[in-house]
Amino acid sequence: MSTLTILQRGEPVLSTIAKPILDIHAAEIKQLIVDLKTTVTLAKGVGIAAPQVGTSLCLFIMCSAPSERYPDAPLLAPSVIINPEILNTSDEQELGWEGCLSVKGKRALVPRYSSIDVSYLDETGIIHNQTLTGFLARIFQHELDHLDGITFIERLDNENDAIDEAQWRQQILNN
Ligand SMILES: [Zn+2]
Repeated sequence: MSTLTILQRGEPVLSTIAKPILDIHAAEIKQLIVDLKTTVTLAKGVGIAAPQVGTSLCLFIMCSAPSERYPDAPLLAPSVIINPEILNTSDEQELGWEGCLSVKGKRALVPRYSSIDVSYLDETGIIHNQTLTGFLARIFQHELDHLDGITFIERLDNENDAIDEAQWRQQILNN
């Protein structure tokens, strides 16, 4: 079990389209999953995608629990999402605050679909077809973007719409 270095925006792998995983039972994939779970837990993130640790493969972890940054987050034990797809989206989008382990110290209001139908494999190879809403739909869309080589900054009309975490803390937590 080891903690992996989380790469920051600007690294080429973070703007590269990730490749589907062909053999989900390969030893390197099992190791990657263990290491990603450790890394996201220690970093207190709600998700992490393989490209963020330098591996350009279609895999991410979602995990969610209420925290200072995400007080309304539902409880979700770390879940492995392999070769994900969005099959359908709601018409509506909603704005919500996001940050990213690869965009340190910045947060922004990002538009995301409020409901999505998704399909993916878990680490045992079982296919899941699910409808995700709210915060979990948001995490899924954020992490899937990493597999398409984009971060939440590219979802903003203007890069300057992202504010410093300290500023966000003042604005939001004091309201
Ligand atoms: Zn991210």
